[in-house]
Amino acid sequence: MSAAPPPAAAGAGSQVPTPADGGSATGEGRPEDNVVRVRDLHYSIGGRAIFAGLSLQVRRGGITAVMGPSGTGKTTLLRLIMGQARADRGSLSVFGEDVEGLSRERLYALRQRVGMLFQNGALLTDLSVFENVAFPVREHARLPESVLRELVLMKLQAVGLRGAAGLMPSELSGGMARRVALARAIVMDPELLIYDEPFVGLDPISMGVIRRLIQSLNQTLGITSIVVSHDVREIALIAHYSYLLSGGRVVAEGTPGELAAASGEVVRQFMSGSPDGPVPFHYPAGDYFQQLIERDR
Ligand code: ADP
Ligand code: MG
Repeated sequence: MSAAPPPAAAGAGSQVPTPADGGSATGEGRPEDNVVRVRDLHYSIGGRAIFAGLSLQVRRGGITAVMGPSGTGKTTLLRLIMGQARADRGSLSVFGEDVEGLSRERLYALRQRVGMLFQNGALLTDLSVFENVAFPVREHARLPESVLRELVLMKLQAVGLRGAAGLMPSELSGGMARRVALARAIVMDPELLIYDEPFVGLDPISMGVIRRLIQSLNQTLGITSIVVSHDVREIALIAHYSYLLSGGRVVAEGTPGELAAASGEVVRQFMSGSPDGPVPFHYPAGDYFQQLIERDR
C-alpha cells in the first residue's frame, strides 16, 4: 500500500481575513464575502422546533465549522441550505441568492456549485473507484472520455488515491472510502464544499488524513468549506470560525482561540464532553412515573 498522501498545502496565503488584518472574522463583513447567510431562521418538524432564531454566516474562502450535539439539526441546516427543505421563517441566502424564492431551475443551478460529502456518503458498490468519481460528471456533463479520465485521475490524485482507481468499494478501508467520496464531491469543481460529519467512524490516522485534506482543499483550491461535526477537537484544529448550536440557535461562536477561551456553560460542557449540563442528556419527555402508571391502566 503506497497511496501517498497529497502534499500538505504549503501555508498558501489563506484568503481568510482575520481580526488582525482589519476584517471581522465573524463573517459579518460585506454581503459578497458571505457564501451562506442565515438570518433569524425558524424551522419545525412535526410541531417540534429545530431552529428558533438561528443566525450565522459562512465566509468566502474560509472553513466554517457548525458544531453541536447529535440531533441539534446540523444535517437539517444543510438540507435547508441546499433547498431540500423550506424554513418556516427567517432568511437564508446562498451565493447571494435567497434560497426560498428560487425556481426549480435556479435551485438546480445552485446545487451544481456545491459539493457535498454526505454523512452516510455511500459509494455505489457495483462501480469501481474511478466510475464512482466519474459518476457526477457523466450525469451532468458530456465530456470526451480522455478529458473525463484526466479529470477523475486528478481528483483521485488530490485525495492520494490515484493508485486505487481500479479498486471496487468493497476493497477499500473506511478511510479510503471517505476519500473517494471526497474526490467525487469535488469532481465538479464546487465553489462551496460541505462536509457532514466527515470524521465519524474513522480511526485516528484516517481522521488526521481527512482533516488535512479538508485543509489542503480549502487552501490550494480556495474552496469555501462548511464542516458539520460533533467532534469539537478535530474541528477546532482546522476551522477559521466556528458556531456551536444548541436549542435551535447559536450559543457560542468564534475563532478556535475564542471558543477555547469562552466561559459559557454550554461551551464548557461541549468542549469537555459531559453528558449533562445546559444541553440535557434526556430527550424532552413527559413525566416518567406518570407514563409508567398510564401503561398499567
Ligand atoms: P444532527 O445532524 O445535528 O444530528 P438532524 O438535523 O439530523 O440532527 O436532526 C435534527 C432533529 O430533527 C432530530 O431530533 C431528528 O430526530 C429530527 N428530524 C430530522 N429529520 C427528520 C424527519 N425527516 N422527520 C422527523 N424528524 C426529523
Ligand atoms: Mg447529522
